[in-house]
Parts: sequence; C-alpha cells; structure tokens
Amino acid sequence: MLLTLTATRSGPEAFPATDLGFLLHKHPGRVLVRELPFGRSTVFYPEATPESCTAALLLEVDPVALSRHTRAGEGTPLEPYVNDRPYAGGSFLAVALRDAFGTAMTGRSKERQELANTPLPLVAELPCVAARGPADLPGRLFGPLGYVVQAEPIPLDPLFPDWGERPYVRLRLAGTVRLRDLLAHLYVLLPVLDGRKHYYLDDAEVEKLLRHGSGWLDEHPEREFITRRFLRFRELVRQAEATFTPEAEDEEPAREARPRLHDERLDRVAEVLKASGAARILDLGCGEGKLLRRLLAAPQFRELVGLDVSARSLEIAAEKLHLRERPELAGRVRLLHGSLTYRDARLRGFDAAALVEVIEHLEPHRLQALTTNLFGDARPGRVVVTTPNREYNAVFGEDAGMRHADHRFEWTRAEFRAWAEGAARDHGYAVRFEDVGEVHPEYGPVTQMAVFNNTRCLI
Ligand code: SAH
Repeated sequence: MLLTLTATRSGPEAFPATDLGFLLHKHPGRVLVRELPFGRSTVFYPEATPESCTAALLLEVDPVALSRHTRAGEGTPLEPYVNDRPYAGGSFLAVALRDAFGTAMTGRSKERQELANTPLPLVAELPCVAARGPADLPGRLFGPLGYVVQAEPIPLDPLFPDWGERPYVRLRLAGTVRLRDLLAHLYVLLPVLDGRKHYYLDDAEVEKLLRHGSGWLDEHPEREFITRRFLRFRELVRQAEATFTPEAEDEEPAREARPRLHDERLDRVAEVLKASGAARILDLGCGEGKLLRRLLAAPQFRELVGLDVSARSLEIAAEKLHLRERPELAGRVRLLHGSLTYRDARLRGFDAAALVEVIEHLEPHRLQALTTNLFGDARPGRVVVTTPNREYNAVFGEDAGMRHADHRFEWTRAEFRAWAEGAARDHGYAVRFEDVGEVHPEYGPVTQMAVFNNTRCLI
C-alpha cells in the first residue's frame, strides 16, 4: 500500500517544497523504517526539489502476522490467508499514517510553525484504496472538505470484466489545506471508506479516530454515515470479542452488569438444556467450547460431545476445557472433528443437541443436508438452535451488512420460522420459539431461538 503526499511551490517567493520535510518531521534525505504489529512502514521521498516534494508512506502488511491475529472461525477458512488487507489502503494504512506522522497531525513544527498553520497546495495520492459503499462515496467524503477528488475505479481483474470494479479505487485528493488537516482527514476517512472491520481497532482506537474528527466532522454533510460506520466497527469489534476473545475465567465474578450478548445466548441455551432433563448432549459447531464449559459445571450432564468442522477450534476448545490436565473428564467430554453436512453415526442417540450460532455459517444449499442429517439421522430428543435475527440489524445501521464475515445468510423471524417449522414437520418434531437478548419493539430480538422436541421420543 502506498500513500504519497506532494507539496508544490506556488511561486518564486513561496516556501521551498522541501519544507514539507519540516512539517512531517521527516528529513527528505532519509529513509525511515518502522515495524508495526501488522507489517512494516517506510517513509521516503521519491522527489525532493524546491519546486516539488513528495513524501511516500509505503506499508507492507505481513500476511502471516495478520493471519495470526485472525482467530480460527473468523471469516471463511481461507480468509486469514487470502484477503485484501495487504493490498488495499484502508484501516491499516490509517494506523501507519498516525504512527509515521503523529507529530505532524498535532500541527506542531519546531522549525516552520507558521507554515504548519498555513493552508498549502497539497496532493495526496493512493494507487489503491478500498472504497465500499456507493460509487460516489470518495467524492461525498472528501469533496465537502475542499478537495478536488479523483477516484478511478480499479477493475478486480481486467481478464474477467464480469467480476466488476469496485470496491477499489485509485484516489487523488488535491486541495489547499493545512497539512495537519489533510492527515486527519485521511486518518479518519480511509477506514470509513474501507468499511471493513479492522483487526486492531478497539474502542480506544475508535475514540482516537473520532477525536481527529473534531473541528470538521460536525459540519460534514456525511457526518451521520461516517459515525455510523464507526459505530459499526465498534459493534463488530464487540461481537468479535463476544464470540472469540477468551472470557474471564469462570471463577471471576461477571464484571459487567449486563452480560454480553453471546454469554446471554449461551446461558439461555444451557438453561433450556438443563430444564429438559437431558443428560447426554451434543454441541454441534461447538467452536471453542464455550457452551461445553458451561455444561461441564452441571453434573446432570453426564456425556458431552462437541463437534466442529474446524480442527483449530477444537484444539482451542480442548485447551480451554483443560482436557489434558483433567483426565477424569475423558469419560464425560469428547470432541469430534466432523461436518454437519455429512451423515455421522457418532451423533445418533443423544438426549439433546445445541447449535448456537452455527446454521448461518453454512451455505444455504448445504443447510438441507444439515437439516436431514440432524433431524432425520442423528435424531436427538431435543434440539436448540440460535441464529441472528436479520431484522434487528437495522439497529446497527442500514448499511451494516451481516454481523460476521463468515455468515452465509441471516434470517428474518419469518424465514427462521419457515425453516424450523418445515424441519419439525418433516421429521416428527414439535417446535417453539423464544427471543434471546435485547428485543426491539419493531425488529424483534437480537437473537432468535428455536427449541425442537422429538415427538417420537420421550426422555
Ligand atoms: N457454537 C459456538 C461457535 C459458533 S461459531 C459458540 O456459540 O461459541 C460457528 C461454528 O460452527 C464455528 O466453530 C464453525 O467452525 C462451525 N461450523 C461451521 N460449519 C460447520 C459444519 N458444516 N459442521 C460443523 N461445524 C461447523
């Protein structure tokens, strides 16, 4: 990824363009390399004459480092290794920008304070940035700040015109602005333009970003869109945490008054299983074993079997459940590697099965296989299924998209009902529905749950 900032001398009396070096606190004759958690950034000047001076920020993202920060289960299986993060400027570039030019962003300059306070003819160029959203988004974001904006769509692959162009553009911004403002605009708006969840973006980073919006964001005509995207980042980060961050150890008292959504979901499913009197449980798509951990605490559950298609998740589950250190658990807990899209005799004859936030990870055309295998072949006495309620996503903002990069679909209440009632009817189950988590008066619950009872089996 590359970002260049060019200053040109506006007349013979004007400042020499190389003064840009004073403003950026980077000497035009030097190359500065910095190691960041996700790669390496280099600042250098491809051109430094009194007439024109260009500072370049080159960011080389290390895909291996990135993949380490992407936990198993996040995105599609190849997502950690194959994605656009190393190539398309966006959130990472924004972080590198602040790292390289943090002092310049404060507007301080030891040698050229007056120049730092003066609007200068500057051009920022990015050969490839991610721009997700309406085609005119770059213009709508940067235009109102006084830039002449050129955003040239980049075809994904010239050999395959059908693949389309967006979401990448070559971006050029030209304007007469203070350098610090240009940097703040880029810092805040590149992630907005990108729109993808940022692996390193935590609440503190969101605060920082919003701080750099002070003074211009308030009057920006797209202010609502910009803040909505930030809130969406925040929401995504929360959800990622809720699903993937190791929780506080069980012994610790809950630190939050309101349990996080995912905990709430898991607690509710555990309660339903408990109340059913079931003793032998399947946790299908068990992930890192969060439900199993809860169930282990209750002696009622004599046999717990977790199944997941992701071997990595099972390894993490084994670690978190301390299976190696606690050999006495061997008779009670087992982890199986397998896929719900294949019939699996190991899953037959259980009292109950839970699928917590799993079905939406399957391609819709595979769901039928899961339904038949589960209800027709494994045939547990009870089945508890949770899945997002798509209607509720409106609360996250209309461009919010799906809640997780790996979700293949998210259902409305009616869609979920239709699937569940169909499955129950076809296979001799009775089904009831329950809201989980916050309930919006119009959009319904954040999570929907179905509880199936095998009418041909009494436990
Ligand atoms: N139930 C867990 C994890 C939910 S994430 C929890 O609530 O914390 C969804 C899980 O489904 C992931 O671990 C993913 O690997 C698993 N999964 C996706 N497709 C699957 C399939 N076909 N068979 C089994 N597991 C699958």
